[in-house]
Amino acid sequence: MTFDLNDEMAQAVTEQQLRASLSLILDEVRSDKPSHHFCEDCGAAIPEARRQAVRGVRFCIGCQEVQEHYQHIGTGKRYDSRR
Ligand SMILES: [Zn+2]
Repeated sequence: MTFDLNDEMAQAVTEQQLRASLSLILDEVRSDKPSHHFCEDCGAAIPEARRQAVRGVRFCIGCQEVQEHYQHIGTGKRYDSRR
C-alpha cells in the first residue's frame, strides 16, 4: 500500500517537473516576449519590419552584427546571446 502511494507521489512530482521544464522550453521557443522598440545597446529605434521578423528582438541591426561578430571571433561562448 505504502509503496503504491509513494509511487503515485513520485509520479506526480515527476510530472510537475516535466511540466515546469516544458513550459520553460516553450517560453524559449515561441517566446512571446515583445520585440523591443529601441535597441538595448545603442538606443536606436528598431524598424517595425525587423521587430516583426525577429521575435523578441533586442538590438538594432548594427548592434546585432557587432554581437554576432564578437561571437564569431570567439570568446568561447557561442550561444551566449540569449542570456
Ligand atoms: Zn543598436
